[in-house]
Amino acid sequence: MHAVVLAAPGPIETGPVHLAELPDPQAGLGQIVVEVAACGVCRSNLHMIEGDWVGYGVPAFTPIVPGHEVVGRIVAVGSEVDWLRSGDRVGVQPLWSTCGHCRFCLTGHDQLCPAKQITGETVHGGYASLLLATAAHAHPLPDGLDAVEAAPLFCPGITAYNAMSKVAPAPGSKLALFGVGGVGHLVLQLAALAGAEVYAVARSSEHLALAEELGARPVDAGRDPLKALTAAGAMDAAIVFAPSDRALHQAVSAVRPGGTVVLGVHAQLGEVPFDQEKRVVGTVIGSRQQMREVLDLAAAGKIRAHTETYPLDQAAEVLTRLKQGRVRARAVLVPGS
Ligand SMILES: [Zn+2]
Ligand SMILES: [Zn+2]
Repeated sequence: MHAVVLAAPGPIETGPVHLAELPDPQAGLGQIVVEVAACGVCRSNLHMIEGDWVGYGVPAFTPIVPGHEVVGRIVAVGSEVDWLRSGDRVGVQPLWSTCGHCRFCLTGHDQLCPAKQITGETVHGGYASLLLATAAHAHPLPDGLDAVEAAPLFCPGITAYNAMSKVAPAPGSKLALFGVGGVGHLVLQLAALAGAEVYAVARSSEHLALAEELGARPVDAGRDPLKALTAAGAMDAAIVFAPSDRALHQAVSAVRPGGTVVLGVHAQLGEVPFDQEKRVVGTVIGSRQQMREVLDLAAAGKIRAHTETYPLDQAAEVLTRLKQGRVRARAVLVPGS
């Protein structure tokens, strides 16, 4: 198969990824092989490729194929898989497999399973023409969903959905979002569906325009966003997907007493005033059940990932664009193009 391979982590400008030929994967017990139609390019991929997450054990090995928001058609089915067939369209999210029997797996919090494997981080991912996947973690794609638009649902979509589930905003409540990109632009759509009044803090003019297009009030991160948020009234909740300590501190300050800050990136928290009973809660991808709900929402036309597509051999260029803040919402690699 053709694949984009990370040989050794390093700055994207130094060429840590390259195109390579790897042996085709074979479907073992409970597994499938997917011919990749589309794979989203995630900031997490960039973090792994540049070595930001070596301290967290990511990547688990090299050379590794990155990519964890994957859509394609099944071309091989392993033993003991009788609910999927060759030709079916499926999507695979970062949660490549889980143990299935720990307290988290048994309570619908599969993403917290200590034995989980992560697509493109602890096993090969979707920057390739073929992907080996766990059948129980492959999600049949509803008819009518375009492969390219569906791919980002499997990371930004599920991540935004889980983050929003921790806020559950009442109609008319005020929500601040820090970071408008792949995940953020789907948070904005879910927040609009919930009837929340959303203030979107972003840095680039392109992201501020996208936020406005999606019904949010844009707040320039470079111009004292806390002042703008305070002027709008205390926020009931804030969601942070901007990888910035400062954004997190601003979010904690912006929420009202008793308010909630949902954090979806690595950041240093600093002081939290205990006497205001603010909550800071982490969020990471989401469960299989939530993935189904996201696909249903997309199939009903209620959310839609905004995408730009590139062939597989432009992965390094796309990652560079992402690093420079020049991807509007989501870049998607299309191996067959
Ligand atoms: Zn991702
Ligand atoms: Zn488990």
